[in-house]
Amino acid sequence: MKFTELGLSKPVTDALAAKGYETPTPIQAQAIPALLQGRDLLGIAQTGTGKTAAFTLPSIDHLVASGKRALPRQCRMLVLAPTRELAAQIADNARGYSKFAKLSVVTVFGGTSVHKNKIDLSKGCDILVATPGRLLDLIDEGHLSLSAVEIFVLDEADQMMDLGFIHALKRVVKILPRQRQSLFFSATMPSAIRDLSSQFIKDPVEVKV
Ligand code: AMP
Repeated sequence: MKFTELGLSKPVTDALAAKGYETPTPIQAQAIPALLQGRDLLGIAQTGTGKTAAFTLPSIDHLVASGKRALPRQCRMLVLAPTRELAAQIADNARGYSKFAKLSVVTVFGGTSVHKNKIDLSKGCDILVATPGRLLDLIDEGHLSLSAVEIFVLDEADQMMDLGFIHALKRVVKILPRQRQSLFFSATMPSAIRDLSSQFIKDPVEVKV
């Protein structure tokens, strides 16, 4: 199986070729076709499996195809990650994968300048990668609205729970548009996490690697 057989657009396959990636990893091969159809996804996968590309590549195609523009203080795709390190890594990957699709990627997380976050968000962005605490601070202060989110990704849900982000997550989900595509990833799926997932995703395709 090659990336070119998965139905991704040329700007995305060109970005993969530039990185030298030809063959999708198992989670990419299973998730990408379902996500291109607009399905929600429950992914049981650890870091290192290629899950970032699995959720970013089809999302880039969706964002390009939907043809909308990010308005000031809005984003079209929201990725929530539990730690600064993971958020920074996801944003780096997303920039690489979207470079020919010309999408804007912004990242906001604690320990960095709030002033810079405000400037970055003032123009609006296509893909926002955030940790929950800083995201809610910026929303509460009126620097960001989630009303234009088309795709919502929750990464490493089990770690989110362990770090005590459950209330923050529930607040975020309450203000997301109901009409959206949602992706939920966790390395483990105990019943508490599965119950949580049912509040985020509808009739998901389940992928386990
Ligand atoms: P992730 O699990 O998303 O953190 O990805 C793990 C690493 O594998 C990252 O450095 C990716 O850039 C790389 N990677 C992702 N997909 C592929 C692929 N299909 N072929 C080769 N490397 C990949």
